[in-house]
Amino acid sequence: MRVRTVEIAVIGAGVIGLAIAHRLARAGHEVAVIDPAPPGSGASYGNAGTIADYAVLPVGTPDVLRRLPNLLFDRNSPLAIRQAALPTLAPWLLRFARQSLPGAARRNAQAIAALLADATPAWKTLATEIGGTDLLRHEGCLYLYETPAALAAAKADRETRRRLGISVELIDAATVARMEPNLPPAAGGAFFPKAIFMTDPGRMVARLARAAQRAGAVHLPATVTALQRTVKGVQIAANGLNLRARHVVIAAGAHSRPLARMAGDRVPLDTERGYHVEWDMEAPLLTRPASPTARGFYLCPMTGRLRVAGTVELGGLTAPPSPHRLVRLEEGARAIFPDLPPPDRSWMGFRPSMPDSLPVIGPSVAGGDILHAYGHGHIGLTLAPRTARLIAALIEGREPDLPLGPYLPGRFSRQVERGSSAR
Ligand SMILES: Cc1cc2nc3c(=O)[nH]c(=O)nc-3n(C[C@H](O)[C@H](O)[C@H](O)COP(=O)(O)OP(=O)(O)OC[C@H]3O[C@@H](n4cnc5c(N)ncnc54)[C@H](O)[C@@H]3O)c2cc1C
Repeated sequence: MRVRTVEIAVIGAGVIGLAIAHRLARAGHEVAVIDPAPPGSGASYGNAGTIADYAVLPVGTPDVLRRLPNLLFDRNSPLAIRQAALPTLAPWLLRFARQSLPGAARRNAQAIAALLADATPAWKTLATEIGGTDLLRHEGCLYLYETPAALAAAKADRETRRRLGISVELIDAATVARMEPNLPPAAGGAFFPKAIFMTDPGRMVARLARAAQRAGAVHLPATVTALQRTVKGVQIAANGLNLRARHVVIAAGAHSRPLARMAGDRVPLDTERGYHVEWDMEAPLLTRPASPTARGFYLCPMTGRLRVAGTVELGGLTAPPSPHRLVRLEEGARAIFPDLPPPDRSWMGFRPSMPDSLPVIGPSVAGGDILHAYGHGHIGLTLAPRTARLIAALIEGREPDLPLGPYLPGRFSRQVERGSSAR
């Protein structure tokens, strides 16, 4: 079979791979994006659409660690586990527990905040470049606390975010009611005034894919099955394709772990499965995304529909969606909006998740011809243009505008875990 050569091959046409491909193609590089699925049809399709620059806290914190047994084994909790997946997940969970200890959680929050600091301007620029500004709304984002006890307990959360540079306002019940009159009475809320959101992430990612194509990136519909370094470049086997690239970027979301292994890197990537349920409606029930935080989901006003998206299920990549999780999501939505009819559609997606809630961004331990760009967990939509900027710098031989130590693929290697941390 004839070997096709390309300068840069990006594996994965989710929001991360496409943002990278778009940036590099615009800068004049020859780029091929390899993905068997249509662009943006993975996790990047069904998310909550928030450009969550306020989401500086990792999933693993001392508080979550304290509640972990209850959370994991209560089928109805917003963070649940598929019992059948427990043996496979045990190593990831152990690392997650370690990363939830106070010192690690603090360091992880700082590293997330460093990445997020520039995420909103980066998205505004990207939206302008791809003709997507009409899909962005500047209405902030709301956390809702249903009881006075929950409101009081959230004080520490607000203080931590403020220490990390986030604008957050405590708002009382009357203000919540004024801002979102269709919501039931809440004890109060936290308002992130600078947050923006997308009214249709699927449409935004489709525009990103088209813009990348216009800039010259080609989409090759195939699944990458092998990577091999040779003196002439990285050889890529992808059913029916035989491709060679000077640089390969692994951006296959939750499916990236075996690809990383092919590059010589052991990365403890797993997935937090998330769900959404949608109701078609002409007039939106809300002005901005709102999260009743104890329920673990967002109520999102999307174009022509209400999307209720979120919850975490540790359950691997192969099992079908859990009907129980969808029922819980639907019941949760109806606890807020009792008149909702049966939903119009539902969806499950795979968040690519690392135990420390930090993405994997940087060169392979075995050599900079292969780069990693995945593991963005709950904030991959938010971090796509930010990640693209870092990857482009590495490929173009420039110093990244952020020290990459906390995000490198080798950070969970044995020596690092024994204490000589790269952070
Ligand atoms: C319910 C839910 C709500 C969320 N809400 C938000 C939010 O409000 N804000 C936010 O910032 N983030 C949110 N996220 C997270 C965000 O959606 C993800 O972090 C992000 O979409 C990950 O993008 P990705 O490009 O890495 O992965 P994906 O979009 O999953 O794309 C990966 C692509 O790689 C391809 N692929 C896999 N294996 C191969 C292979 N071997 N060869 C070639 N191609 C391959 C797949 O086909 C897929 O198209 C949410 C996630 C969920 C599930």
